[in-house]
Amino acid sequence: MKNLDERKNLSWDRSKVSYEDRCGILKQKGLVVWFTGLSGSGKSTISAEVEYELFKRGKAAYRLDGDNIRHGLNSDLGFSEEHRNENIRRITEAAALFKDAGIITLVSVISPYRRMREFARERIGRDSFVEVYVKADIETCISRDPKGLYKKAANGEISNFTGISSVYEEPQNPEIILDTGILSVKDSSGLIINYILKRT
Ligand code: ADP
Repeated sequence: MKNLDERKNLSWDRSKVSYEDRCGILKQKGLVVWFTGLSGSGKSTISAEVEYELFKRGKAAYRLDGDNIRHGLNSDLGFSEEHRNENIRRITEAAALFKDAGIITLVSVISPYRRMREFARERIGRDSFVEVYVKADIETCISRDPKGLYKKAANGEISNFTGISSVYEEPQNPEIILDTGILSVKDSSGLIINYILKRT
C-alpha cells in the first residue's frame, strides 16, 4: 500500500534540458506509437520492422515490447485483469519517459482493455499518441501461433488467454488500422513509417 504521508513530501525536480532542446538535438519530435491487437496479429513483427527502417533513416526509435518488458520491469505481474492493468500503467509511464527524451517510441503490447489504452493516450498526451490496431481475426492468429501459445491455451495449459479465455476490446477510433490478413509486413511498416515521418 502507498504511504500517502510519505508521498506528500515528493516534488518534481526539473532538468536543465527541456523537451524542445532534446528534440532539437535529435532533429525529430517524440511520439508514442501504440500497437494493440491479439497475440499473433503481428505487433512485434511490424514494430521491429518499423524500428529498423526508422534507424536506417537516422531516426532515434525504441521499441517497448510487452513480452520483453515482462522479463524485467514487469516480471512480477501475471495476466489477471488487475495485473494486466498494472502492466499497461507501467509501460505507459516508461513510454512517457522515452517520449520526453525525444524518442519515437514503439509500444507493442496486446493491451486488451479500452480503458487502459485511453489511460495511455491521456497520460502521454493526445498530440503525441498514435493508436495502431493490428487487426487479424482469431482464426488467422491461431493458424500463425508463432509462440505456440494458442495451442497451449486450447490444451488448458494457459488461462486468461486473450481472444480465447479473456476479452479483447477492439479499438473504436484508432488512428490507423493494419489488417494483417491483407497487408504484408512491408506494407504495414511502410504505412506506419510514412505516418511517423509526417508527425515527427
Ligand atoms: P504479436 O506481437 O502480435 O503477438 P508476432 O509479431 O509475434 O505477433 O507474430 C506474428 C506472426 O505472424 C509472425 O510469425 C509473422 O511472421 C507472421 N505473419 C504472417 N503474415 C503477417 C503479416 N501480414 N503481418 C504481420 N505478421 C505476419
